[in-house]
Amino acid sequence: MQIQMELILSLFALLRNLLSKMELKYFKRSEFDCKCGCGGTIVSDKLLQLLDDAREFAKIPFVITSGYRCQKHHDDLTSRGYHTAKTSAHLKGLAVDIKCSDSKSRAIILDALGYVGFKRFGVAKSFIHTDIDSDKPSPVMWLY
Ligand SMILES: [Zn+2]
Ligand SMILES: [Zn+2]
Repeated sequence: MQIQMELILSLFALLRNLLSKMELKYFKRSEFDCKCGCGGTIVSDKLLQLLDDAREFAKIPFVITSGYRCQKHHDDLTSRGYHTAKTSAHLKGLAVDIKCSDSKSRAIILDALGYVGFKRFGVAKSFIHTDIDSDKPSPVMWLY
């Protein structure tokens, strides 16, 4: 009897876990995996939920060009001349870069990110960085 109860509880936990992973309406979690091919997939659920809400509000596609980065990928980008922060929020799974290269979608995406509560933005010609790293100052918006 005791064992059955434990089995039922663990099934519930599994189900809840599966459901929470399906909550995202617009993104697959794999879109946030490290792009170096290492298979690293650390990404904050809060970040994903906020992005999903922002995407709903924006009504235009969000193409994720960078989510989680492992240290090796981070070092590689830095050595190739990319502007990377020493303690990048990408390393913690708290940041994303969204592809964006025209003025209209830039305005729409920034508006939507701000609307759902993001307070840190990096604006580049071809992407928008945002993160929820509470160790860093906010509100801020910087240029690359
Ligand atoms: Zn990696
Ligand atoms: Zn970034």
